Amino acid sequence: MWSCWPSRPAVALFLKRKGYIPVVLERSTSAGYEGSALGLAPNGFKVLSALGITSGWKDSSLSSVLERYGHPMGGIPRSFLNRFLKDAISSVGIPVISEFKVSAIVEEEDQVTVVAEDGRREEGSFVIGCDGLNFVVRASILKSNNKPVELVEFTGIVQHRGISPTPPSMLDHLNTIMFIYGPSYFTYYPITFNSCLWALYQRPKVGTVEWPENRFLTPEVKEARMKELLEDLKDWPKAFKDTVGNSVDITYLKVLDRKVLEQEQGYSAKGRCVLLGDAAHPFTPHSGHGANQALEDAWHLAQILPSFEPTTPPATPPSVNPMSSSELKPFFEAFAQKRQPRTAAIMKISRDVGDLKCPMSPEEIKRRDEYFKETGFIAGSVPTIQDDWFSQPFQ
Ligand SMILES: Cc1cc2nc3c(=O)[nH]c(=O)nc-3n(C[C@H](O)[C@H](O)[C@H](O)COP(=O)(O)OP(=O)(O)OC[C@H]3O[C@@H](n4cnc5c(N)ncnc54)[C@H](O)[C@@H]3O)c2cc1C
Repeated sequence: MWSCWPSRPAVALFLKRKGYIPVVLERSTSAGYEGSALGLAPNGFKVLSALGITSGWKDSSLSSVLERYGHPMGGIPRSFLNRFLKDAISSVGIPVISEFKVSAIVEEEDQVTVVAEDGRREEGSFVIGCDGLNFVVRASILKSNNKPVELVEFTGIVQHRGISPTPPSMLDHLNTIMFIYGPSYFTYYPITFNSCLWALYQRPKVGTVEWPENRFLTPEVKEARMKELLEDLKDWPKAFKDTVGNSVDITYLKVLDRKVLEQEQGYSAKGRCVLLGDAAHPFTPHSGHGANQALEDAWHLAQILPSFEPTTPPATPPSVNPMSSSELKPFFEAFAQKRQPRTAAIMKISRDVGDLKCPMSPEEIKRRDEYFKETGFIAGSVPTIQDDWFSQPFQ
């Protein structure tokens, strides 16, 4: 098992179709943690179906979503998605070099070299930096553009998340649910006919002991935390308390935020590196759009780059006849122009939605409740925005 989260296999598959020779460099070892599940929207499913991946998830959307956008909305266990993507790339012979932890990028006029922590080196025509939130490639690009590498910021909101057997009272309930109560909110997605994914967002009470990072959580700590969580939820509807209480496992994270990159910070000054997915636009999880936007990125970058298919001249793949930096850079500029305005807007919405849904004072709770009463929607789901989000990246 290796964690191969969505943007890399997706962009590798699209580029392979256009005659490129992609190689995936993955830091994970065989014991990588895959995480629980993802809620995907019609735009994410649309990209997966363009890759030929059309099954393996639970459609938890209202039928109107399917009718309107032609693709469902629902939860998909990360392990399923990873398996589908892994099978798809191995079936077309895309190599994955695992345990390759990228630590540096060296750009030259006619090639780029990626250096691993253990000293191994891989050469190619260009690097697509889709190394997620703890990006190495982004830091390298910012340095190449003479920009400081930014610090991450804790938003003050923490997330607990788990997969649970669906409580009996929810078995007939096929839709995604969001429940807002006091200063917290809870999301619920069915992921199979009898299991669901949940996430609880809270602001930790002052004086609460801070949890260690996920990978350091022992079963004893998880058990103690579960007791505290159930105490926090004691006034909640039984179905949600049961969902949390029966979790197979729980994970914990602090919701972090990073700054929005300017368009020209999405690719290197020398023109051989470009950013994609969370490395380009690390959303807070409140909009549930990180993976969907990462998949959209993969689609658009592959659309923008020139084709090297045998039928389309020039027929020589770029690893044999590399493009010069000055030839490559305009494609990356075009990609950043296409994507940055959209992803920057979603980053802002995601941040605002988190603040709105996890208020800090009784006044803010009142303001939030009035907002929901007036609009009947969450800020990220008003129909015009939803239409714009869900109908992409192609008609
Ligand atoms: C708890 C949580 C819940 C989420 N829920 C949702 C959701 O419901 N819906 C949704 O759309 N999005 C969700 N997201 C966001 C979503 O997971 C990300 O937006 C998405 O995974 C981004 O994909 P990516 O391919 O850009 O990066 P990642 O998925 O982070 O993948 C990066 C890959 O790069 C590898 N890597 C990292 N550093 C190196 C290195 N130095 N060398 C080599 N390899 C490296 C990693 O091992 C990993 O395989 C959630 C995120 C979190 C944390």
